[in-house]
Amino acid sequence: MKSIRIGFGFDTHQLVEGRELWLGGIKIEHHKGALGHSDADVLIHAICDALLGAANLRDIGFHFSNTDDRWKGIDSKILLLESCKLIYEKGYKISNIDSTLCLEAPKINPHITKMQTTLADCMQINSNDISIKATTNEHLGYVGRQEGVNAYATALIYMS
Ligand code: MG
Repeated sequence: MKSIRIGFGFDTHQLVEGRELWLGGIKIEHHKGALGHSDADVLIHAICDALLGAANLRDIGFHFSNTDDRWKGIDSKILLLESCKLIYEKGYKISNIDSTLCLEAPKINPHITKMQTTLADCMQINSNDISIKATTNEHLGYVGRQEGVNAYATALIYMS
């Protein structure tokens, strides 16, 4: 019998001057970057939580604590790779990811194809199985004021 499971992930990070902006595994030129213990790639963190949630493997903070020096400044692609390893070790395969980035600036659409291929490489799946969407917050709230960035992701995993 085929077992299919769904997972959901959310993450948020502050946007501040003097930090690099890493989203979906790539560096994007911008005058602000996300603040965090790692490279603060909010999209990857949401995807990790969606994957871990689908397999009932707790969350990203449980596996990669933000007080652990091992993960300080780390490339979040390593956290994604490790999360996928946990999924694969439990016998699951990844069907697809759907995600949304929510930020006011910069424009994300020109970068989506590169994000998809970068994440697909990291997860060892087809880039056609990673959907990345982007939206603004219509100038509302902390996202609208460009003080922060949100990401949402769902993941479908299965065991055949
Ligand atoms: Mg995070």
